[in-house]
Amino acid sequence: MYPLDEKENWFSGKGHWSKTLDEDWFNWKWQMRNRLTKKEHFERFIQLTEHEIQGFDIAQSKLSVAVTPYFFNLIDPNNPNCPIRKQLLPSGLESVISRVEKKDPVGEENTMPVPGIVHRYPDRVLFLVTDRCASYCRYCTRSRLVSNAQKYGFHPSIEAGFKYIEENKSIRDVLISGGDPLILSDDKIEYILNRLSSIPHVEFVRIGSRVPVFLPQRLTDQLLKIFSKQENLWMSIHINHPLECTKELYDACRKIVAHGIPLGNQAVLLRGINDNTQTIKSLIHRLMMMKVKPYYLYQCDLIEGSGHLRTDPSVGLKIIEELRGFTSGYAIPQFVIDAPGGGGKIPINPNYIIKSDENGLVLKNYEGKIFNYPTNSDLITTKPLFLP
Ligand SMILES: *Cc1c(COP(=O)(O)O)cnc(C)c1O
Repeated sequence: MYPLDEKENWFSGKGHWSKTLDEDWFNWKWQMRNRLTKKEHFERFIQLTEHEIQGFDIAQSKLSVAVTPYFFNLIDPNNPNCPIRKQLLPSGLESVISRVEKKDPVGEENTMPVPGIVHRYPDRVLFLVTDRCASYCRYCTRSRLVSNAQKYGFHPSIEAGFKYIEENKSIRDVLISGGDPLILSDDKIEYILNRLSSIPHVEFVRIGSRVPVFLPQRLTDQLLKIFSKQENLWMSIHINHPLECTKELYDACRKIVAHGIPLGNQAVLLRGINDNTQTIKSLIHRLMMMKVKPYYLYQCDLIEGSGHLRTDPSVGLKIIEELRGFTSGYAIPQFVIDAPGGGGKIPINPNYIIKSDENGLVLKNYEGKIFNYPTNSDLITTKPLFLP
């Protein structure tokens, strides 16, 4: 059952678009056509701040603005600090670029053997199949190419990607991403999935998508049928705040799982949006109710103009420390930093090892109590286990 809690206000409905016909509202193509993309579209519903007005000018050459009507409804029109609003509305602060920030913060361009394939790890690749999304997150790590505002001109050759994967037998895991692969047509999605599943050494395929969150209407029976025919498909979605966990998203996730696709969530820690334990705890508990495993919690990448959204890594560590032991182990994501320059995802953990030497480990538990785990073989005496 959908765990509706009145107090927690799980949103559902057409909101500002109450007069829209059901056949339009529930049609993902209508949602895409009617996205809010210009300053004037937003001004119809909310009073933009000075920073946001400046942000619309910057967005033209940095990363386009787009929000689906469905997701726009989640914005509290009276709160300029609304956590949904701050993820999607541009800001003049995006023009503040520090020396450590980069256009390609995690060094993807250095490990692209063919356009669209990022091969960083021995056994798996990232396969970018489009540069477009249903809505654009202001902190996007791939702003350099996504939405083409920076005139990157991303033209991935999907066939060259298949060929590369076919020829490299060490690749057992393919992560399809972009942009967002689920804005492609059913036919194209099915073609990509079938091509990959026909490669004998590919054991595991993942789709990375925020479409269930921005555009749950996209999860049509037809698309779910395509998914259910795949034997090795998983999906990683991207939810940052409990307010995104609507009835619509809940239903979409339950349907995806019911069609045999395990779901994981990758959240990004963002200043003033979800950078406290209470918000993350509420988020991961809702994810569990939606059968979504909290997979990664990311330190925000050093993408140009994202300083106003970035927290110090100590914030993430403190959150993890305040979760471990206090909630289900299953609900706790791994906090990671995607290393600048292309080192890959590095797990960052609170320190539970106080001391480690030849006698063993001195450990701290979640309550701060100290425990010894002896390992010194000199301490081990041999005694018969069973006396006659
Ligand atoms: C994140 C990522 C992967 C997948 O990493 P996992 O830790 O297996 O989720 C693969 N390739 C690239 C380039 C990535 O950035």
